[in-house]
Amino acid sequence: MAKKNVPYDQKYYDPEVECMPREELEKLQLERLKDELVWAYENSAYYKRTWDAAGIDPHIETLDDLVKFPFINKQTERDTQGVGSFFGELCCVPEDDVVFMATSSGSTGVPTMSPFSQHDFDEFMKAESRLFWQTGMRPNDRYLHGMNFALYVGGPCVIGAQELGALGIWVGAVPSDRLLWAMKHYQPTQFWSSPSYAWLLGQKAIEKGYDPKKDFANLRTIIISGEPGGSIPTTRKAIEDIWGASVYDFFGLSDIYGACAGMCEYKDGLHIIEDQILVEIVDPATGLRVPDCEKGEIVYTTLTKRSRPMIRFRSGDIGWVNREKCQCGRTMTRIYISGRKDEMFIVSAVNVFPSDIEYVVRQDSGLSGEYRIRVYDEKFTTKYEVSVERVFGSEESYDEIAKRVENNLKTHTGVRPAKVIVFDTDKLNVSAEHKASRFIDERTSVKDAHAVVEHSKEAAAAKKEGE
Ligand SMILES: [Zn+2]
Repeated sequence: MAKKNVPYDQKYYDPEVECMPREELEKLQLERLKDELVWAYENSAYYKRTWDAAGIDPHIETLDDLVKFPFINKQTERDTQGVGSFFGELCCVPEDDVVFMATSSGSTGVPTMSPFSQHDFDEFMKAESRLFWQTGMRPNDRYLHGMNFALYVGGPCVIGAQELGALGIWVGAVPSDRLLWAMKHYQPTQFWSSPSYAWLLGQKAIEKGYDPKKDFANLRTIIISGEPGGSIPTTRKAIEDIWGASVYDFFGLSDIYGACAGMCEYKDGLHIIEDQILVEIVDPATGLRVPDCEKGEIVYTTLTKRSRPMIRFRSGDIGWVNREKCQCGRTMTRIYISGRKDEMFIVSAVNVFPSDIEYVVRQDSGLSGEYRIRVYDEKFTTKYEVSVERVFGSEESYDEIAKRVENNLKTHTGVRPAKVIVFDTDKLNVSAEHKASRFIDERTSVKDAHAVVEHSKEAAAAKKEGE
């Protein structure tokens, strides 16, 4: 794909699309959705079989007709991949037409393959260029790409930076010493990594004797993705304070694109590339749509993806949407993600997300910012405990800190933790390079969210049968 020459001072990369009036946008979405559904029906063995069985006609009249279609999820991908062909029954093109594949991280269950045709890959790169431009990236920027390249869908996003004309520096996921060396020598203006790694790298830089604000003075923007931290203001601020750079949250999923939503300068939600992806919010228990601005599970439908259309893909992420026009002038819907459905836990009837706890930990200047959450059952009741670290050189007593954090957690989440355990700096050891595991789930009685969903599915099926 050729580089698109957009003037530096143009605010939007693709103004016609990004600022399209909602009515026109919905017309475009409907036109594309009609095509996508027929394409999926005619070319995917899975969609044809399941829609036929449910008596669903792939020809629709309105956007709302989408609710008739059944959901798919990660399990659908697992069950259908390799069936009948290499990419399996969801794939709509012969393998010869697939030019790129990524896989899911495989942190839960079998990794799933995500195929892209050349058309899909071009659309993917267009999306990346738009999202990068939205963060202020221009052709005179040096962009250091700190994302993993090993089968990871975030890897090729660097090409989107190059397509808008920026200098792509393909560093990838390397040990922090090497990354700091590259940053010192190449003085990038933009950098992308996970939030925990951006934070950890800052700590490492200070440990190694760098002064991040001076030694990496050109760094203006840090893009973060892959964990909920990017949408937590106190986490963004903690990273901004270390680097003296502005932090933008991006969101993507290997099942669709590396990044398909990103922040603009107002940082109020993430603009999703709505001309390519439809977003619905449904009640995780009943699967019914909930009104905008109400929390639920985020469901995505691709509008232009040809190799593997994803029709009503339940992401497992909990969040909400705002379809109002943003102050930046873009009309693309903004999504807000609270966390993963499977990491949500219920204590005394209150839904708690690890991101709620992170918010509290990161705003406390007496703490290092690192934390670990353990959720467990005791006498048939779900409880949570939080481990934190005192900031380096702190003389505050462990008890004082524990009490303060407990109270703040109670205020912010609505439920008091069973215990707060305080460690010294660096004693928690949770920040593995590039991938942080801070959530330990030891619940045995119920897997809250799953159990509710499974139960409701059965109830809904039983109700349907009874009708
Ligand atoms: Zn905006």
